[in-house]
Amino acid sequence: MAVAIVVHGGAWEIPPRLVDRHERGCIRAAQIGHDVLRQGGSALDAVEAAVCDLEDDETFDAGRGSFLDRDGNVSLDAGVMDGDSMKSGAVAWVSGIRNPVSLARKLLEQGVASLLAGSGAEEFARESGFSIVPPEAMTTEAAIEFYRTHRSENPRQIFEPLPRGTVGAVALDARGAIASATSTGGLPGKRRGRVGDSPIVGAGYFAETGAGGASATGHGESILTVGLTRVAVDAMRNGLSATDAAAVAVEALRHPKIGGAGGLITLDANGTAGHAHTTSRMARAWIDVNGDGAMV
Ligand code: ASP
Repeated sequence: MAVAIVVHGGAWEIPPRLVDRHERGCIRAAQIGHDVLRQGGSALDAVEAAVCDLEDDETFDAGRGSFLDRDGNVSLDAGVMDGDSMKSGAVAWVSGIRNPVSLARKLLEQGVASLLAGSGAEEFARESGFSIVPPEAMTTEAAIEFYRTHRSENPRQIFEPLPRGTVGAVALDARGAIASATSTGGLPGKRRGRVGDSPIVGAGYFAETGAGGASATGHGESILTVGLTRVAVDAMRNGLSATDAAAVAVEALRHPKIGGAGGLITLDANGTAGHAHTTSRMARAWIDVNGDGAMV
């Protein structure tokens, strides 16, 4: 059976000077995930490998280089779902974890909980043998600069949905299994304890073998209300193509009372990738049954 993967690096008004970096990062991550699939790896292995690579790339708001929260710290959310077992694992508001998506996967496999937050998630990381890195190891000059500039210019501004570069991946493996993962540093300047859609199953990510998978990005509060990725996978289960399912989900995000901004990637059970977004740009790359491509 054909294998396929689609990845994204956020939906926002990506300025022209950052387009190349976003495109290169997405293409590389899609290739890494695809290599895993070609070598017989599972969809879960592929989305983890692709998202780890995106987390390690400072271009994106995930892992190292994420935007800082209101207190000037990196605080990360990630979730992953195995569409075969329909089990998910997620961590929220963790610091000092290089690859939160791997911690989310560990939780999925251990099954002690679906979602662990804050110090409880970090305790689970230590118990599971993850190394905890110091805050400086996760913070970049660019993130500090962004924080300083926006804080001094206008403290209100950093609470607004400015740049976003959440990352995600959806894969279909040779056995027909589908998995999905999403990872983020969240909105810049978010207040302590604020958790968006990214680590919430059905909102930031969802996968169901035989139906499809999806990973979302954008204004977390709106995506939570819609249950964006669940809407898309339901639509694929009901026979819509990956592209049409993504469009249906984004339409729900545009509900006049919600008015959300963002987007999602989708992959159906036949290995065709789709996407839709309300923003001017969305960074993504795919290697699916119809070929490969990238677009920012
Ligand atoms: N959805 C993320 C959040 O609200 C942010 C993003 O996708 O850029 O935390």
